[in-house]
Amino acid sequence: MLKIIYTLLMLFVCTSMHASEKMYFDELDLNVNVDDDFFYIHTSGNVWLETSTIHRDKTGAFTYVNSISKRASIENSMQFEKKWKCPYCFRLYPIGTPCSYKDCPSKYK
Ligand SMILES: [Zn+2]
Repeated sequence: MLKIIYTLLMLFVCTSMHASEKMYFDELDLNVNVDDDFFYIHTSGNVWLETSTIHRDKTGAFTYVNSISKRASIENSMQFEKKWKCPYCFRLYPIGTPCSYKDCPSKYK
């Protein structure tokens, strides 16, 4: 029983340490919409991460890992919510979800 508590405690400590981790990014990869509650950071190949805060220090711009939107995966582990940007209306949607903006100029909906 003690071993289980200890394991859970260690897991909690590790998780909270991981959560305050900084993630640096290139400011050119930042997408800011004035009418949006979130900032979006471009990772690669039109994959964007959604974050609620951005900061800056001597090294550059960063966000905290615990500010990035996450979702539970099939294996029940938390993963970053990945989004794609519609090239026609520049709105962001979860990967696998088509653009749902009714006035989107895209005809490939
Ligand atoms: Zn669109």
